[in-house]
Amino acid sequence: MFMERTFAERLQDAMRQRGFKQVDLVREADKYGVKLGKSHMSQYVSGKTVPRAEILCFLANCLQVDADWLLTGEGDSRMVEGNTIHNVGEKNTARKAEDRESAEGKIEGKVSWKGSTQNRVKSGGSIMREFMKSSKLDNVLYDVRGPVVEEANRMEDAGTQVLKLNIGNPAPFGFRAPDEVIYDMRRQLADCEGYSPAKGMFSARKAIMQYAQLKHIPNVAIEDIYTGNGVSELINLSMSALLDSGDEVLVPSPDYPLWTACVTLAGGTAVHYLCDEQSEWYPDIEDIRKKINDRTKAIVIINPNNPTGALYPKEVLQQIVDVAREHQIMIFSDEIYDRLVMDDEEHVSIASLAPDLFCVTFSGLSKSHMIAGFRVGWMVLSGNKAMAKDYILGLNMLSNMRLCSNVPAQSIVQTALGGHQSVQNYIVPGGRIYEQREYIYKALNDIPGITAVKPKAAFYIFPKVDTKKFNIVDDEKFALDLLRDKKILIIHGGGFNWSEPDHFRVVYLPRIEVLEESIHKMEEFFSYYHQ
Ligand code: PLP
Repeated sequence: MFMERTFAERLQDAMRQRGFKQVDLVREADKYGVKLGKSHMSQYVSGKTVPRAEILCFLANCLQVDADWLLTGEGDSRMVEGNTIHNVGEKNTARKAEDRESAEGKIEGKVSWKGSTQNRVKSGGSIMREFMKSSKLDNVLYDVRGPVVEEANRMEDAGTQVLKLNIGNPAPFGFRAPDEVIYDMRRQLADCEGYSPAKGMFSARKAIMQYAQLKHIPNVAIEDIYTGNGVSELINLSMSALLDSGDEVLVPSPDYPLWTACVTLAGGTAVHYLCDEQSEWYPDIEDIRKKINDRTKAIVIINPNNPTGALYPKEVLQQIVDVAREHQIMIFSDEIYDRLVMDDEEHVSIASLAPDLFCVTFSGLSKSHMIAGFRVGWMVLSGNKAMAKDYILGLNMLSNMRLCSNVPAQSIVQTALGGHQSVQNYIVPGGRIYEQREYIYKALNDIPGITAVKPKAAFYIFPKVDTKKFNIVDDEKFALDLLRDKKILIIHGGGFNWSEPDHFRVVYLPRIEVLEESIHKMEEFFSYYHQ
């Protein structure tokens, strides 16, 4: 009959294999300040009790076996030596504890704990379990708040003033929410204590639906609208509901990096298509065509664009629709800057050109109403929804699971989308965003070695650096050097999944006086900088 082996038997086996007596383990524990008495040890060996987690980990560590296996008999029964694994049976050259090097404070190798791989760290004399981030995050990049920003925060903590041109957050630069929005939110706050329906409250979704009608987005009913805690939440949700491992999504390069991050996190592969600086940063249709294959499920466009400030004309959008139609792929269009378009240009929603395809259009109030902190955005499903019935079930599941988005913020969507759009005052001649754009565009182009395409929308510019002139090979280093030398924080092009080290993004939200000061410092920097 099959007899299940006990913890004590596994412990004894491992001790035998490693040539350890009980006293050896007690001594070893003492050496590292682990509380393990003789009586405890004999209780473990005789099977009277099993050790608590830290002691188990310590024993597994000393005996170089898998902690999970030692405790439960499950998992890998082989010996773990540093990072190499040997079969217990093969390993008859057991060594005593004294032979093993295990320097204080140094990561000692890997041990499996309840099925997940953890590092064992020696800390202050005791063995500590260390929790590692999920490997799902291994290829996820989000430098808009990444290492260069961390360095800026460290400098600020040490008392240095840093000019932050890294994030599209209007409020710190003196852009205030329209009074009516604040007034209406205050009035409704007491009515917003409960959860709303998962997709959002009726009045908000009705206003978004009417907005979609004004943008000629076809076939949108109230149930096709989902509110979210910013567009960010919905990007994540829409990719999580869609992707299986191996699925590919076409994402622009440069991109707003959350798109690539969410595709990756959802298990898919972001395949970057080029936006062409020589053609006003429009998507390169030939490159898109080249990168489509059987695994391609969708294309993402960001229009108006972050980080380039480009606005795509109807003809370019039509070409993207044609490719999507030919290959029957979905279109995700991030249009969060659609109300920040300058020069009397008109924003066209790509979904309005694709009634026969399945489109998801994203927008929100973070930028147009300067309320990034309130966290309100939405997505609108349109066109051929029959193609995506099952996907829509997935979206509904994930939307239900997060219960609902911020309800006070939903309560002002109707106010925000109706009536006078105060953001208009900022984007016409004499308005702050317009004038700041005029200034930054000219000033950057006046710096020898820097060129930039004029942005038409949003509040970003993505200048090119003459890498030969400055010998720049590492754009993150360039961003760090500018930060350390001139206390200016920008994001390097790599942060936007741009593969060459020759671009950076400037957020031109600060007032002109502040922009002037930063341009002056950049001029100085570029007069001597060489990598
Ligand atoms: N999409 C783009 C292109 C953005 O630039 C941003 C924020 O900068 C977002 C989405 C996220 O916006 P939200 O505040 O609605 O989450």
